[in-house]
Amino acid sequence: HAKEAGRNNFQFYTPAMNAKTLKRLELENNLRRALERDEFVVYYQPQVEIQSGKIIGMEALVRWQHPHLGMIFPGEFIPVAEDTGLIVSIGERVLRSACAQNKSWQDAGFPPLRVSVNLSARQFQQQNLVKHVAQILRETGLDPRWLELEITESLAMKDVEFTGKNLFELRKMGITIAIDDFGTGYSSLSYLKRLPIDTIKIDRSFIRDITSDPDNASIVSTIIVLAHNLKMKVIAEGVETEEQLSFLRQQQCDGMQGYLFSGPLLAKDLEGLLAVAKVL
Ligand code: C2E
Ligand code: MG
Ligand code: MG
Ligand code: MG
Repeated sequence: HAKEAGRNNFQFYTPAMNAKTLKRLELENNLRRALERDEFVVYYQPQVEIQSGKIIGMEALVRWQHPHLGMIFPGEFIPVAEDTGLIVSIGERVLRSACAQNKSWQDAGFPPLRVSVNLSARQFQQQNLVKHVAQILRETGLDPRWLELEITESLAMKDVEFTGKNLFELRKMGITIAIDDFGTGYSSLSYLKRLPIDTIKIDRSFIRDITSDPDNASIVSTIIVLAHNLKMKVIAEGVETEEQLSFLRQQQCDGMQGYLFSGPLLAKDLEGLLAVAKVL
């Protein structure tokens, strides 16, 4: 049976696919080795509360520090990591690092802040996800209220029953939940009232043109009103200009994350900012 399938596959194996598959295999092997050699580094991008100008949290963003190729961004390896399932191990590394780092900042006397960690669909499908997260919190000693998990809209919608069950359990532990890249998944909005969501992160693509494209401006202001009516906070992603910030301030957007204030930083480089009371 398997032999037959194998033979069939072989027929469709063109040279182009061969090269592509080889590349993928190579990347997969390299990712495995990177895990063994601990080459993944977590960067932290501060999130600022618009009204108070205070840092309210940071998002953990993984990078691969390759010994020869230098820094590799998630866009280049997360898709393969997802396909191969390696994202589960990588994501676990990131979650553990982020929790440990946040705890150590708190122990060092910095004002307590929330750290947000991206969760991929693959991680979310793990049967023992909730137990696993609880274990990492126990091991690192981080109070769950200082952890936020980011999931994408498409993940939230995929299986509202199953997703909801996991999310409610995580929420019960005290963890908060954010919807990432909001507005990019084609979706009915009904999941918003069925799932325990604390924060909506408006995708960068809407923020980019808010000051030049009236359609995007109304989409963004409508999302803010919607979120507030549902008792959720809103964070704007990819804020790069003062004009964007002032629009968001006018619309009473709660938080911002973007190059205007800071890109993702190494933990030690963020420390200087954490000590500043008001950054905006
Ligand atoms: P995301 O979760 O939506 O993260 C925001 C991305 O926008 C980050 O890209 C960040 O560096 C970038 N960004 C922030 N501010 C600005 C800005 O003002 N302008 C522009 N042009 N970009 C800005 P990054 O770090 O390359 O990450 C890309 C994506 O990779 C993330 O999007 C997330 O979906 C995924 N990712 C990153 N780390 C992890 C992880 O640990 N686990 C999983 N599953 N996915 C991750
Ligand atoms: Mg994110
Ligand atoms: Mg995002
Ligand atoms: Mg994204």
